[in-house]
Parts: sequence; C-alpha cells; structure tokens
Amino acid sequence: MAEQSKLLMEMLAQAERSIKDVSEKAGELEPRQDLIGLEGVVLEAVLRLGAVWLGMVLSQWAENLARETGTRLPCRCGGMARWVARRAKTVLTLLGRVTYRRVYYPCAPCGQGEGLGDRSWGLHQTRTSRGVKYLLGYLSGTTVGFAAVARNVCRTLGWPTLWLSGKQVQRLAEPIGTGLDAQDAARVAHWWARATAGLADLPREPPLPAPAPLPDAVPPSGRIYVQMDGILGRIRGTAGKGSDIWREVKVGAVFWAETGHHASRLAELLGHTAQRTGDVVRVWVDRPAGGIRYAAALLPAAEFGVRLYAAAVARGIERATEVVVLGDGAVWIWKLAAEHFPGATQILDFQHAREWIHKVAGAVWGAGSAKAATWTETQIREHLIAGDAAGLVAAIAALPPIAPSAGEAKSVPEQAMDYFHNNAERMHYPAYRARGLEIGSGIIESSGRRVVAVRCKQPGMRWTEAGLQSIITLRTHALNDSYDVALTDLPKVA
Ligand SMILES: [Zn+2]
Repeated sequence: MAEQSKLLMEMLAQAERSIKDVSEKAGELEPRQDLIGLEGVVLEAVLRLGAVWLGMVLSQWAENLARETGTRLPCRCGGMARWVARRAKTVLTLLGRVTYRRVYYPCAPCGQGEGLGDRSWGLHQTRTSRGVKYLLGYLSGTTVGFAAVARNVCRTLGWPTLWLSGKQVQRLAEPIGTGLDAQDAARVAHWWARATAGLADLPREPPLPAPAPLPDAVPPSGRIYVQMDGILGRIRGTAGKGSDIWREVKVGAVFWAETGHHASRLAELLGHTAQRTGDVVRVWVDRPAGGIRYAAALLPAAEFGVRLYAAAVARGIERATEVVVLGDGAVWIWKLAAEHFPGATQILDFQHAREWIHKVAGAVWGAGSAKAATWTETQIREHLIAGDAAGLVAAIAALPPIAPSAGEAKSVPEQAMDYFHNNAERMHYPAYRARGLEIGSGIIESSGRRVVAVRCKQPGMRWTEAGLQSIITLRTHALNDSYDVALTDLPKVA
C-alpha cells in the first residue's frame, strides 16, 4: 500500500511538471494563435509523460516481483541465479523510449541472466515492446514496403527516424506473421481432424476466431461466393537475382452476396446483343454483402483447400442456398471446388477467359495488331458473352496454325482450345447473368491482386518463403479485420 501511494505521488509530481511546461509553452503560442504548434506541444508532452509513467510503473512492478522472489531465482539452465543489482533498461514502446529499473539476476553457471518480469512483459532479450511489434505487424500487412512503415510510424509518433529502420520493421514484424500463421494452421488442423472424425459439428464450431462481422441475416439472395486465385511470389535464390524462383500463393475469398445497383460492362454487351432481338436486358449484378473473408497461403492445394473451407464455414456457408465458385482455369481450383463445395455453381472467371482470347490473337497476329484486335472483338461478341465454348474452339481451330513456343508442347491456340473445351460447362455466362450472378473479378477486386500482388509484388520485392508467408498472413488478418482478436490468442511472440 505504501508503495502504491508513493508511486501515485511520483506520477502526480511528474504530471504537474508536464502541465506547467505545457501551460508555459501555450502562453508563448497564444499571441500567434498557433493551434498547430499547440497540438504538437500537447501531444509531445502527453507522450513524454506517458513514457515516464510507464517506466515508473514497470520499475514498481519489478520491485514487487523482487520482494516475492527473494535473492535467488532458478534459471532455465538448472542453475541458480542470484540477484545482484538493479539495472536500468531502455525499451521502445508506443509512448517512445521508456527507461525502467529492472531487478537483474545473473546466472553464473550459464552466463545468462534474467530481468524480473521481462519474460511476462515480452521484454526478455528484446528492446521493443509487444505494443510496438503488434503495431508494426499490422502496418506491415497494410502498407507497401517496410521502409514506408518505419517512416510512417516515426512521423506519426514523433520519433527520430534513426529509432526505426525498414530492416528493423521487417525483423520485428515477421515473427508476428509467422506466429499467426502457425496459430491459424494449428486451429484449422485441429478442427479438420475432429470434423473428419465426425467429432465436430462443422457448422457450429467455427474453426477460426473472429470472422469479419456477418450480415445480420443471410441476404435474400441466399448466395455465398468462393473465389479462388493463384499468384506467383518471387522467392530469393541463394545465388543472386538470377537464381530467384517463383512460388504460387493460393488465395481465396468468401463473401455473401446481395443484389447490387451496378451493371457490369458485360451487362452492357449483353444488352447490345439483345437489342438485335428487341429484348430489353436489364441485369443487376450481385455485390458483396458484409465483409470479404480471405484465406491465403504458400501451401499445396490440398492443405490450402482445408484452410479455405474453414474460412467458408466460419463465414456461415452452411446457411447458403447457393454456393458460387469463381476461378480461372487452374486445375487445382476446380479440384478443390469439387471436394469442398460440391453442388456449387462453377463459373470460369470471365476476365481470364477474355485474356485467353487476347493471348491467342496476339500469338497469331502479334499483340496490339489491328487484325488481332478485330478477331478478339469478334470472338468476344459472337462467342464469349454467349457462353459458346464450342464456337470459340471452332474459331480458334480455323486459325492459321502456329508453332509452339520454345519448351512448350502445344501452341498458344492449342492450349486455348483445351482451356475452353475443359471449362465449357463453366461458361454459361448469359444464364449466370440472367440470375444476376457475378461472373468475374469485375466487382470484387481479384483476391490474388488484393492480398498478394499489391503488397508483395512491387518492383524489386524478393522474399524468403517464410517472409512471404508471414506478410501474407499479416495482410490477410488485416483485411479480414481479425488481426487484433487473433493476437489476443497468439502464444506470446517475444
Ligand atoms: Zn543459468
């Protein structure tokens, strides 16, 4: 009790000093009515006072622990550490640099030592608080580039730039993402093992914490979308840039749909087609209702599939009356769709299909040539928007044959014929549109782009596998609005 009131008196005395200081400076600023200056003065004073308070309280906590502990502390090496002295330690916190008096127990047998309380506060063998690390983790997931995070934090919190570099941000943020990824993986694995053993009720046991808020009720459409995408990330090789390799990050997005207010560009094209027959085409296309939940990982398809399915279950997929799976032509996407979302309406992403037509025309007549443009436009108008895969295959077959590119077994037109042939049943665009279904990445930005490319595929960005997975995890949790809740369960990352 005596310590408590002594601490209180010290904090009050410090506050009084700060108040006097602010009041004095405010007096100097008044003649110029300098509000910007005043904001800065008060902010700085509050942060500085907070830093002093934090140091005072931590010092007191250490004293209290020391009283309970006595002079001897068992060390993890099995030896006995003996209290020698109080030593000042300075750490970086959200309030700036904070110095506290820690009670230090050096261990003679192993040469290590322990500051009382440091482990539970996350300050053992580190000089950065968890508050700072967690902030850096969030910003690293949402901001492009670690150096930008460092600059933004220094500027916002009024820190000298030398307190935090991009390298340091990366070093501090990466373990957070790695820890969250391990936590996600363990949760999903545990749930999946129970679910497949018939022990867990799939719908009632959400495998992941804190799904983004669900719509209050299932939207009248009763429709949930699962979009899948694969995107290549650049992995740093061991022998310079030439040895870099590309690894596929698999990304999925799950969202409920409601009827939107916008007609897509394809709806316009369909309208154009229908004018010939005199029909009036008016299509309101689905749009996401509530948040979009993402899952992303550098994982083989089977493992990623379980993660994505877990995310869909957490989002309440069992309440949907219709599941729509959207993806490009990648084989793994449709394998996962068949396994985890049987009975779903499968739609080949319209933009990807269109890109294939462009690719064929470019290969035959040269990209950007007038002939390529005319042919492409005709195929889109005559076949693609009509969902006529057979017509597309026939049109491509009628093209002058070209040789495969080096190292390829089939030419681009041959590959395109396979593509349209294999995906024919996923290309009934007029029928999908008639029901207001989304048919491409027109309304929700492609999940691969949003989760991976924007953050991780900027010029010059090269990653380690662990680093890439970490940043993707941070970004996914930030986009899912699940970062803070996930952190509360995170086994403490030192
Ligand atoms: Zn020891």
